[in-house]
Amino acid sequence: MHKSYLLALVSLLASSLVGARSVDGQIRLSDGSSDVIDSVDSIDSVGTGSDAIQIQKSEMDKVIASSELLSLHRSLVEIKSISDNEQAVGEFLLDYLHSKNFTVEKQYVAFDDDTGKTIRSPRRFNIYAYRNSASPSIILTSHIDTVPPFIPYSLSHPSSTPFKRDDILISGRGTVDDKASLACQTIAAMDHLDEHPDTEIGLLFVVSEETGGRGMSRFSESRLNSGTYHTIIFGEPTERALVAGHKGMIGFSVRVRGKPAHSGYPWLGRSAVSEILPILMKIDQLGDIPVSKGGLPSSKKYGRTTLNIGFMAGGLASNVVAEEATAKVSVRLAAGDPMEAQDIIVRAIRDTARQNRNDTTVVVTSGRDGKKGDVEITFGAESYSPVDLDFDVDGFNITTVNYGTDVPHWKIYGDNVKRYLYGPGTIFVAHGKDEALTVGEMEAGLEGYKKLIAAAVERERS
Ligand SMILES: [Zn+2]
Repeated sequence: MHKSYLLALVSLLASSLVGARSVDGQIRLSDGSSDVIDSVDSIDSVGTGSDAIQIQKSEMDKVIASSELLSLHRSLVEIKSISDNEQAVGEFLLDYLHSKNFTVEKQYVAFDDDTGKTIRSPRRFNIYAYRNSASPSIILTSHIDTVPPFIPYSLSHPSSTPFKRDDILISGRGTVDDKASLACQTIAAMDHLDEHPDTEIGLLFVVSEETGGRGMSRFSESRLNSGTYHTIIFGEPTERALVAGHKGMIGFSVRVRGKPAHSGYPWLGRSAVSEILPILMKIDQLGDIPVSKGGLPSSKKYGRTTLNIGFMAGGLASNVVAEEATAKVSVRLAAGDPMEAQDIIVRAIRDTARQNRNDTTVVVTSGRDGKKGDVEITFGAESYSPVDLDFDVDGFNITTVNYGTDVPHWKIYGDNVKRYLYGPGTIFVAHGKDEALTVGEMEAGLEGYKKLIAAAVERERS
């Protein structure tokens, strides 16, 4: 079909919303764009209501099916893989990578059952894959678990704009975090290896990133962490910017024990709720108070330390003086190390509790050591300082992020190891019910990973 006729047809289509059929089966729909719809059959349905163009689902499915990257991404998202239940997606990846001539190793990762007992079972495993060397020099890694709840894979396109391949929106749990990175890394590695079979690239896909990083810790302690690498590329949604670093983390809980009594005679008891309130008020402010006055540190790079009291509970009924109150807090640390921060937190809680009642006992307990006090503080197992990363590859935006990653769980062996954190999609929709990214974003993410691999190879040579 002649191009000018084609464009005329497009504008006719866009303005009058009539169906159109092309002779060669291709039609360009957005002016100036090279996006091509392979078949116009679906456009027969154009013109239902206002100025919306209804592109049939089959058309979007075709776009996904015709791309190795987008099909892999779809398969990954369609498999439910909420933390601790990653077996099915692991098995899929295993088969997929085998079929693409990778040597694949399974690394089992234990988990804790509801009672806290550690279970070893084939239910969960990390995946470590390579083509030519079991000790690769460049490793790409992302996580295969997602947060709950499962949200099914779906495709949509804004009805207010002409159909454009790049604008197809892919929604569902894990589309962004972290299966976008997972799919892009896999295809980037494959594409690179197809052209340069000698490059030593490894793929590491881990479980449990969303629940404390046990998968990565397991890898880190194993023989697979051989220290032969010079470049590690971590995949998380960064909006395709290179992340110069992220904040550190501490989690803790506070439990206050009171003494129950009839609410008509509160002086006969001690309210745990009344006593935890000033403590929580203090915790809430710790990021805004200078260190010299007992607050948590800030830094130029990461700004202030922030604290989130994400959970609190206490008491039994309105007519009973509360015997117990608890709160759980997550701290995003902008500077310093977690031990110093823990001291600051304990001091702040102790001082506040004793302003209320100066014989209050405040203890730090693991929860299992049996230590008891009026106020008990328990720090979570996972804590780390702010993480600094490399960002010395040209052509990327640079940013910092406030979320945690698996980066601190990988103990690095060897000098001059570069660590990058990069991935398509935005953290602002990850973990939310609107988790989604566009086809254009996915494909740009793939290009970004290819660029990072090429830069790593280049550095190896020089
Ligand atoms: Zn993630």
